[in-house]
Amino acid sequence: MTNRTFTMIKPDAVANGHIGPILAKINEAGFRIVAMKYTHLEPEKAGFFYAVHKERPFYKDLVKYMSSGPIVAAILEKENAVEDFRKLIGATDPSKAAPGTIRNLFAKSIEANAVHGSDSDENAEIEGSFFFSQMERF
Ligand code: UDP
Ligand code: MG
Repeated sequence: MTNRTFTMIKPDAVANGHIGPILAKINEAGFRIVAMKYTHLEPEKAGFFYAVHKERPFYKDLVKYMSSGPIVAAILEKENAVEDFRKLIGATDPSKAAPGTIRNLFAKSIEANAVHGSDSDENAEIEGSFFFSQMERF
């Protein structure tokens, strides 16, 4: 289980036609897709997902943005998944993301930054179980 991470392709990337290219980068980097769904977060669900950031100044806008259109949620598997995926997506702020990273290639701004990636094994499990049933994650 510790070789899994959770990701979302965020509304800006979906709206701009980047689902295919982003999934290709994920596959090329050696991740296996364990579970995947195309869905739309209501503000309540986006707020719950990002509750850890509730006190941050960007929280309200983030919730609005994350519920502004469809997303793709997925559980990914690979050795050292959490750390390797964070490397693949690059820094939160795309202007600071390394060349060739997903955020460097596809993000629009620090908020609309194309993808989510879990920051720990524990959060990968929590976030994956928010979107997928036990059976889907088996
Ligand atoms: N975010 C934002 N403004 C900021 C920092 C973050 O809008 O100054 C958004 C951005 O979409 C980011 C998300 O909030 O991906 C969660 O922030 P976090 O610091 O956890 O960044 P991440 O782990 O996604 O790199
Ligand atoms: Mg984070």
